[in-house]
Amino acid sequence: MNPISISGLERRLLNERRLLAECIGRIEADFAEPMDDDTAEQAAERADDEALNGEERIAAARLHAIEAALARLREGTYGICIRCGKAIAPQRLAAMPEASTCIACANIAKSKAPAGGKFRLLTARCHRVVSRGSG
Ligand SMILES: [Zn+2]
Repeated sequence: MNPISISGLERRLLNERRLLAECIGRIEADFAEPMDDDTAEQAAERADDEALNGEERIAAARLHAIEAALARLREGTYGICIRCGKAIAPQRLAAMPEASTCIACANIAKSKAPAGGKFRLLTARCHRVVSRGSG
């Protein structure tokens, strides 16, 4: 289909799916923890929870995008833009394996829903959340 390695991309998608699932699990476990007695601690925890809540939404959205990409891999439609049906540039897939649209369509969608950079930030935070919880 193209010069990029589909199996390599699939591996990356599977790795990221595992990380995100673990991240969401940690965030949910964090919510389930009882509050500390100290009120200053409580305020800090509430602020932390609110930040995590936003992150969980982003993580869930990204997980959804990755699941959809894996489904397209199984169906043999991976790498084809879901909006216009053209092939997605290999460089784009290499940078963003879960991409469902070509660059042109992504640019149209971007005006409605900003994403990209936030996801990269989130992935770094996921690593932090996951490593924090395992100590
Ligand atoms: Zn397109």
